[in-house]
Amino acid sequence: MTMDRRTVTQMAADLRARKVSSVELVRACLPRIEASQSSLNAFVTVTAEQALAQAQAADRELAAGRGGPLAGVPIGHKDLFCTAGVRTTCGSRMLENFVAPYDATVVARLQAAGAVMLGKLNMDEFAMGSSNETSYFGPVRNPWNTDLVPGGSSGGCAAAVAARLLPAATATDTGGSIRQPAAFCGVTGIKPTYGRVSRYGMIAFASSLDQGGVIAQTAEDCARVLRSMAGFDPRDSTSVDNPVPDYLAGLDAPLAGVRIGLLKEFFDTGLEADYERRVREALAVFERLGARLCELSLPNIPRSVPAYYVVAPAECSSNLARYDGVRFGHRCRNPRDLTDLYKRSRSEGFGAEVKRRIMTGTYVLSAGYYDAYYLKAQRVRRLITADFERAFAEVDLLMGPTTPTPAFALGAKSADPITMYLNDIYTISANLAGLPAMSVPCGFAGGLPVGLQIIGPHFAEQRLLHAAHRFQLETDWHTRVPERCA
Ligand code: GLN
Repeated sequence: MTMDRRTVTQMAADLRARKVSSVELVRACLPRIEASQSSLNAFVTVTAEQALAQAQAADRELAAGRGGPLAGVPIGHKDLFCTAGVRTTCGSRMLENFVAPYDATVVARLQAAGAVMLGKLNMDEFAMGSSNETSYFGPVRNPWNTDLVPGGSSGGCAAAVAARLLPAATATDTGGSIRQPAAFCGVTGIKPTYGRVSRYGMIAFASSLDQGGVIAQTAEDCARVLRSMAGFDPRDSTSVDNPVPDYLAGLDAPLAGVRIGLLKEFFDTGLEADYERRVREALAVFERLGARLCELSLPNIPRSVPAYYVVAPAECSSNLARYDGVRFGHRCRNPRDLTDLYKRSRSEGFGAEVKRRIMTGTYVLSAGYYDAYYLKAQRVRRLITADFERAFAEVDLLMGPTTPTPAFALGAKSADPITMYLNDIYTISANLAGLPAMSVPCGFAGGLPVGLQIIGPHFAEQRLLHAAHRFQLETDWHTRVPERCA
């Protein structure tokens, strides 16, 4: 069961050249996924039969000289994208047996592009977490060292790509859930601009922050998959009606003259020395490529974690009110009356972190506290957005570390929510401002992957992907694989 290191780009080309069939790819992936489950636990559901049927259909299309841009390429979906006929758990007991009657727009678009779904990937419960330890289906482990967390909430996606169980996965990022696990697992991830990718059929956590994106091996693959996912969707009222550029166009163009800002606040307290060294080395690569670096300060950035942990729980408390044991999701046995049904269904269905957020959110939205917390957090959010707008008047991109440290041990932070929340210190601000942001592998600290974060102005995905691609042409960090998986 040798590892298949091919990228999406290479697989798509090999499929089209008929060097390999989709059925062969799927048949090779399935036993590797099966074998990895006991050590990594990256999948909640593996859809073997459906994958083979989709692969056969893709092979027929390819044989006829047809097929979409991803025809036959195996991928996985984070288990919060609704999939018709296949359960969508959101990592929760609440939705353990939930089967959506429809596909999320992202799922439908990727299927239309020819991608083959191998299964649904493990995640923190309702995408709340930074370590994948809050999943009802057990933690995911980091392929680089299985005593460590893979990051979260898209831990299953990042671990599966890092172990090359599949070449790419869809994921979502509300406060860092694409970038942080991508950094911890040594893979590439992009969170597009808020509104770029439809949220229809993507189970909601915090609606004004949630955004779907991709985790893959390379920036080029991210571009390739994103191209098929993105775009206006009348079924999502916050979806933006802007044409989707061809993200693959111009990836090789020179970087000379690009202005890169280093956020002073991202190099402050908490950043581990070795991590910083790797990030600075990466920045030197950009300088060699002709980019101009300067330091910038965004004074409101340090307020992003507290603001996020008011806004996100507030929205979650409202979104998760729908799980009442009546319409769908977990229902308690033998309820005495309606109140008992609500109470026990929710108490049994949700885990501790979700309950903590619902309680915090309900509190900050309650009469008397709304102004003091929620409204204030929204104002801080506005200030952070204005900070970024000022920065992007001076530079084209911002760069810095994705996280303050590499992956940490399972259990190390689970007893202390505040320490866990601080792990998102560098990622959250991009969500508050709705900006596109990426994480790109840029070296190792203590044997563990380090992530370089790239943030751009609204709808500048192409600019991010271009910079990341040029970096990946100069470096090989993104090609490294955990020894134990090779
Ligand atoms: N780790 C952050 C949280 O727990 C972000 C999660 C996410 O982006 N979904 O809320």
